[in-house]
Amino acid sequence: MNPRNALNFSGGPGALPESVLEQVRQAIDEVPETGLSILGISHRSDWFAGVVAELEDSVRQLLGLPPDFRVLFLQGGATQQFTMVPMSLLPPGGFADYVHSGYWSGKSIAEGRCSGDVRVVWSGADAGFSRLPGPDELTCSPEAAYFHYVSNETVEGVQFHDVPGRDDVPRVCDMSSDFMSRPFDAGRFSLIYAHAQKNLGPAGVTVVLVRDALLERAPVGLPGFLDYRVQAAAHSIFNTPPVFAIYVVLLVMRWLRDEIGGVARMAEINQRKASMLYRVIDGSDGFFRGKAASVDRSLMNVSFELATPEADRRFLAEAAAAGFSGLAGHRSLGGVRASIYNALSEEAVARLCGFMEDFRRRG
Ligand SMILES: *Cc1c(COP(=O)(O)O)cnc(C)c1O
Repeated sequence: MNPRNALNFSGGPGALPESVLEQVRQAIDEVPETGLSILGISHRSDWFAGVVAELEDSVRQLLGLPPDFRVLFLQGGATQQFTMVPMSLLPPGGFADYVHSGYWSGKSIAEGRCSGDVRVVWSGADAGFSRLPGPDELTCSPEAAYFHYVSNETVEGVQFHDVPGRDDVPRVCDMSSDFMSRPFDAGRFSLIYAHAQKNLGPAGVTVVLVRDALLERAPVGLPGFLDYRVQAAAHSIFNTPPVFAIYVVLLVMRWLRDEIGGVARMAEINQRKASMLYRVIDGSDGFFRGKAASVDRSLMNVSFELATPEADRRFLAEAAAAGFSGLAGHRSLGGVRASIYNALSEEAVARLCGFMEDFRRRG
């Protein structure tokens, strides 16, 4: 066991539960049910078909998904979904409404525009993406082919705490950095995507939840790899899938169910972790400065800065020397960002809080 893994506050890929890492170590050598290394098991084996089936079931049960959702495990990351969504759902002559709430929604808009008419219904650019729109600031069109937003802006640390958009327009959400961190009403969504490397497992696999009715709207003649219908018909084994990554996501889902007790329990823990950190920031007399508006603060990515970039650098250097890693803000923003995904324990967050208070006392 490597104790530094427990203090990995990276924005992603990030921390995984120690009990999962332990099973992964064993699986590299030998998956108990097969006698083979996980790195050398065929994606066409019955064992792997069972892994995909169990994983799909776990996702359905953990989220209480309505039965008309397909559960897919795709490649290409969330970035490929920035393209697949408009390719499938944005007809010629139609348009889609997007919220521009930060770095990742900005990427989704730029990529979406390669495929069609993407309209920005609200932008936080003038506010430095430090806040999110209130319900009356969003003017979404009933004519839009769909409405797209990012539930948690990983870079800036702002998170929607309610569901924006209209219930009469298909709602599409990039939940990459808060998927499985809290319960939500899946019935209000048409398509949800989340790549693994924030809350679910290693990079290489992206979970896509899509309603049957939406699949019907995709144009015919898409390349199979980029066609949700083809991927659904192949049960996510259209070509060689990332067997290892999918297996680890299954281990993480078992951990979430058996060790944590489900998504609602996870949300309580995540709430406590975030509160601890924001309390230290708010109680620091401006020594630590939170970047996000209080009501829109993320429970997954706590972003803050000190008085000067030099102070940020000294904080990060001393934190690294004390065993904490991954605390530097995104390369586009600087500052400090503590990513406290599901696998980051309350003990680890308490230790970071202790370090911050100690650092402040030392000046
Ligand atoms: C990290 C992240 C992405 C990028 O995902 P890739 O798998 O690298 O394409 C997209 N959206 C959000 C919200 C993210 O946090």
